[in-house]
Amino acid sequence: MRIDCHCGKIISDTTDHLAHKAHLTPDQDIYEVWDGIDDEVIDRVASGELAVGDAYMKSRHIINSPTRSMWQCFECGRLYIDGPDGELYCFVPEHEETEKRILRSHISK
Ligand SMILES: [Zn+2]
Repeated sequence: MRIDCHCGKIISDTTDHLAHKAHLTPDQDIYEVWDGIDDEVIDRVASGELAVGDAYMKSRHIINSPTRSMWQCFECGRLYIDGPDGELYCFVPEHEETEKRILRSHISK
């Protein structure tokens, strides 16, 4: 996947561990994620109903199901977010000094 940013730069998404990409989970969905992990994974593993190997995949499915992707252009700071309707939305920083690596990990430099 690639996004042609309005500033002219290309935002590439062809690998993992990207400093310019994040996964957005709406607050309206996060409690279902936590309850799903509790009820559909932890409790079922504890009771012996679900194998540990299956629990890994089930957990990832539950965590990923409500998430949408977002990317930031390192050059201009624009944020691109997949909307709930599947459309890509662009948000422009208010100031030139706005952090242009806001999506990076706290351990990333
Ligand atoms: Zn840009």
